[in-house]
Amino acid sequence: MTILIDNTKRREAAPGVPRSQAPNPTSSTPASLYKSREQIYPKLAHGVFRNLKWLAMVVLLGIYYALPWVRWDRGPGQPDQAVLVDFENARFYFFFIEIWPQEVYYITGLLILAALGLFLITAMFGRVWCGYACPQTIWTDLFIYVERFFEGDRNARIKLDKAKWSVSKIYKKTAKHIVWLLIAALTGGVWILYFHDAPSIARDFFTGHAPMTSYIFAAILTFTTYSLAGFMREQVCTYMCPWPRIQAALIDEDALNVTYRYDRGEPRGAHKKGATWEGRGDCIDCRQCVAVCPVGIDIRDGLQLECIGCALCIDACDEIMVKIDRPKGLIAYDTEANVVARIAGEKPRFRLIRARTMIYAVVFAAVGGIMLYALLGRSTLDLNVVRDRQPNFVRLSDGSIQNGYTIKVLNKATETRTLTLSVDGLPSPTLKVAGQTGLNLIVPADDIIDFRVLIVEDDLIDIGVRGDVTFKLVDPVTSVTAIQSTVFVTGS
Ligand code: SF4
Ligand code: SF4
Repeated sequence: MTILIDNTKRREAAPGVPRSQAPNPTSSTPASLYKSREQIYPKLAHGVFRNLKWLAMVVLLGIYYALPWVRWDRGPGQPDQAVLVDFENARFYFFFIEIWPQEVYYITGLLILAALGLFLITAMFGRVWCGYACPQTIWTDLFIYVERFFEGDRNARIKLDKAKWSVSKIYKKTAKHIVWLLIAALTGGVWILYFHDAPSIARDFFTGHAPMTSYIFAAILTFTTYSLAGFMREQVCTYMCPWPRIQAALIDEDALNVTYRYDRGEPRGAHKKGATWEGRGDCIDCRQCVAVCPVGIDIRDGLQLECIGCALCIDACDEIMVKIDRPKGLIAYDTEANVVARIAGEKPRFRLIRARTMIYAVVFAAVGGIMLYALLGRSTLDLNVVRDRQPNFVRLSDGSIQNGYTIKVLNKATETRTLTLSVDGLPSPTLKVAGQTGLNLIVPADDIIDFRVLIVEDDLIDIGVRGDVTFKLVDPVTSVTAIQSTVFVTGS
């Protein structure tokens, strides 16, 4: 029988600690954009950070898959889905918030807030977003879990890939791909639930009555999930994602990162049982930190673009430290400044509050405050007025002047409103709404209605060629008011 993984005592890094055969690509061969990919077989890590990642995966996947099914009562005739992007009616619903197309600046504000939050977190704790919350990391982790379930841990997977095709190998590979495809299809299928009423579209999808776009987007998301999480994995982070490049500008020597404490670890080397630790570092060069790394790098080479900050190497190394009876934390969340300080014999210190984190925090709070203020003061009634240009004005037979306007009324309330229209700014205007006798405008709940309005003015002495005029709409029940200024033209 061919022995592919030799874990005999000769290869031990310390008594009871096998040295992993994980390659060390970053220290021996510089990463090249054109290098063909080497398959990475991450070993299962055990420890605090691995548990944190499991927890993050369960919570975040749970939110993604369950959120479209959460209901939120908005009143009769309104969609009762808590989170819904309703393209058909041009609305975005998020629990009690309803965003209209005219309010797309809220989305812009949210994106700015998200970017600032990411800047702040990165400046303080490095790439925690990439390591714990990025969808690419989470789905890749899930796919590796499935792979490990069918094919075993790192050594078993390496052995299986090198082995000839057999019934057992075909079964394991087929089962893995079927489960991958099921997860990918579920992911793509859930995506479309965010754009329609979830129970209805789910039923229509399986009975063949859903819109063609639903099938197309479900297929696209299935394909991208399957290929990005199943095959491309760390290449997405290293080559496709811009974030590793951006984060380099956000991180300084005081940012907390997954750090190999070389002040303590070097000089490294295998350790014989009973030998002294004097004059040498705590790293026994077992490469377990490399074996668990999902991007296949060696953290001992320093902070690298490829590192997603998942902290699994911390777990792996801590396990080794326990085995060899040395203190945990040879790899830990630490700062480059602290490592340098320790080498210089100074006391390490953590500076989470510093100029750049303060700036990010203040700007984040300012944008968040403005957004909150705008959201809380958001009116449920809006008015837009467009004046006729062709003709600019009409002189009537009695000498008075008539201007025409189209007013667009947005009723964002959940009930039908009867609104009272008036104008200010003209001496003695006569107001008329086309197609009706009075000045009460009826606008159904959650709707936009256009009205054609004419203003006739016969007292023209003080107006000049053009005068300011303000349209005013009042809801007599709630006193909510909307006003919009424009001009009244009497000549060219
Ligand atoms: S840093 Fe820790 S896990 Fe990595 S090789 Fe050294 S002792 Fe082993
Ligand atoms: S070096 Fe450590 S923190 Fe970075 S990706 Fe690898 S295992 Fe995760």
